[in-house]
Amino acid sequence: MGQTARAAYEELLTRYAESCDLSGASALLSWDQETLMPPRGAEARAKQLATLAGIQHERWSAPQVGELLQECESDSGEFNDEEAAATREMRREYDMSTRLPASLVQEFAAATSAALQVWREAREASDFTRFVPSLQKLIDLSKRKAEAYGYEEAPLDALLDLYERGATTSAIRTLFGELKGKLQALTARVLDKGDAVSPALLQSDFDEDRQGELGVDVIRQMGFNFDAGRVDLSTHPFCTTPGAGDTRLTRRFLKEDLRPGLFGVIHEAGHGLYEQGMPEKWVRHPLGTATSLGVHESQSRLWENIVARSLPFWEYFLPALQKYFPAQYRDATPEAVYQAVNHVEASFIRVEADELTYNLHVILRFEIESEIFSGQLDVADIPARWNRGMKDFLGITPPDDAQGCLQDIHWAMGGFGYFPTYTLGNLYSAQLFQCAQQALPDLDHEFRQGKFDSLREWLRTEVHQKGRMLEPVALIKSATKAEPTPEPFLRYVEEKMDEVYGLSTS
Ligand code: ZN
Repeated sequence: MGQTARAAYEELLTRYAESCDLSGASALLSWDQETLMPPRGAEARAKQLATLAGIQHERWSAPQVGELLQECESDSGEFNDEEAAATREMRREYDMSTRLPASLVQEFAAATSAALQVWREAREASDFTRFVPSLQKLIDLSKRKAEAYGYEEAPLDALLDLYERGATTSAIRTLFGELKGKLQALTARVLDKGDAVSPALLQSDFDEDRQGELGVDVIRQMGFNFDAGRVDLSTHPFCTTPGAGDTRLTRRFLKEDLRPGLFGVIHEAGHGLYEQGMPEKWVRHPLGTATSLGVHESQSRLWENIVARSLPFWEYFLPALQKYFPAQYRDATPEAVYQAVNHVEASFIRVEADELTYNLHVILRFEIESEIFSGQLDVADIPARWNRGMKDFLGITPPDDAQGCLQDIHWAMGGFGYFPTYTLGNLYSAQLFQCAQQALPDLDHEFRQGKFDSLREWLRTEVHQKGRMLEPVALIKSATKAEPTPEPFLRYVEEKMDEVYGLSTS
């Protein structure tokens, strides 16, 4: 490596580390906003966050950063893999922050904050027509964003790439197309069984402190490190890492249902293990972060669904459940809990959907987004399109738009292209777990004894320790020796439904 390229690279790393400090400070302010801040702090906090974001953007989009990147790239012949990958990531972030004109960024920020307000009112009144002008405006601005970022085939590609880089409309359409027909058929067979499985065992009166202690027991056993993390309450659960050694989860409880509190915190701890598993050498470094939202979600779903909704898991954890809630679980069996946590139901709300039907909710949103961005669907026709999709996929029709196309915040925030990452996460999780099982044939036996370390270490080696070295598809290929495919998920969910609902014996 030439002297100037080496010096330029080192200078970029220094600037990048400062950029990480600024985003870490923003993350901490946001965490505080969601957990501890009193309501009247909101206005000042919004300004603080905007100021920090502005400083960070200004510093990283400065012309000198572009020049330093060019120096690296013009003489990168002797860069090793790590340096080449770090340069690639810094280039990507630089391009992302310089391609949008400042006027468009401001217009978009103003439009989303106005749209959020209108969306809340429209959802409250369950009146989609009220939301149409704001949504139309965000779609128009998003199309301009797509043009500014650039794309090869479809404008939506540019937006998908923001959340899952490399993702394209056509690749996702193929993947989801294979998934859709089989999921629909399986869902129909399960729903045919009607009330064969009931969630009643999880619906009672559960003291919230005890729910909290149970959740902490479970995630400690999973390996979440409380010397490098904590758990607090918030309305919408999330996971954030303001800095190395500081990964924070949040959760919420429902007194009458064990599921949101317990599976919610397991989900967030799955994200947390990914963050805690980043290599120490990449602290404040371009490679020391998750490679994509889809891969992040694969970690949370793997623990939440594949591990914590398995029979061996409940063979181990039933005594803990009985310790905290003796009245409810004194006579319960692991099999009964296993059945109840895998109950399937056709429901209107995505975030409440079970493991089987969840992906159909996502596929519907992706289909609508791609029809809108290709000009096949008018904004005003979204409710009819939505309801037709729900009828087709799940056999139900939302009674109103609040329980239909107005339920999610994503579009009101201009987050078109975000939804597919949820289903990609589910598909990746099954593909990764299948490989982990092949490498570690005793996993079921270990889970029954409360041992989760060999699975966690496998994920650490194959996924967490890679940071952003590999892009998402390359990471899945390196860990599983195969292209992303829906097959492992379909096989997994079919086997489970067969076991829980006794499909083959019908
Ligand atoms: Zn998640």
